[in-house]
Amino acid sequence: MYARPFIDSLDFARNGQKISGEVPIAELPRLLDVLEDSRGVLSYTVRGGLDNLGGYWLDISVVGRCRLRCQRCLNGLDHAVQLDSRLLLRDQAGLDELGNDEDELDSILADTQLDVLDLLEEEILLSLPIAPKHELGACQVADGDGDAYNKKLQPFAVLAKLKSS
Ligand SMILES: [Zn+2]
Repeated sequence: MYARPFIDSLDFARNGQKISGEVPIAELPRLLDVLEDSRGVLSYTVRGGLDNLGGYWLDISVVGRCRLRCQRCLNGLDHAVQLDSRLLLRDQAGLDELGNDEDELDSILADTQLDVLDLLEEEILLSLPIAPKHELGACQVADGDGDAYNKKLQPFAVLAKLKSS
């Protein structure tokens, strides 16, 4: 069984710690929901630190490949995951105070038992295209006439997908 890493996020940032590893996509159930299959492994690094204003942060990076589902033909679509983001750690009061108008940096709740994979999964989900599609004409369509299929059915296929999600 895969051992999920947990960190004490503030402590981790204060001490400038770093962890890195690999996680099989099959261990990320929420991500799996939007993928075409569960093959593949993602590499990640999480690094903590603090700025000179006393703010604590985590820098996370994830690279790898996954298979999205094309919204036009519903077949697999290779997607390169390449994610780098900085998340500020705040306590609950800090988060409440922020409201919705601070958008330059993402903030997360400082947690003494932060589930690293859960955090990575969230960030990966946010980074994925909303409606991934093969390039025009590259869809694998059963009748072999991809272009005609695209022109006729694509808007409806997309609509249907939007309604069902
Ligand atoms: Zn396609």
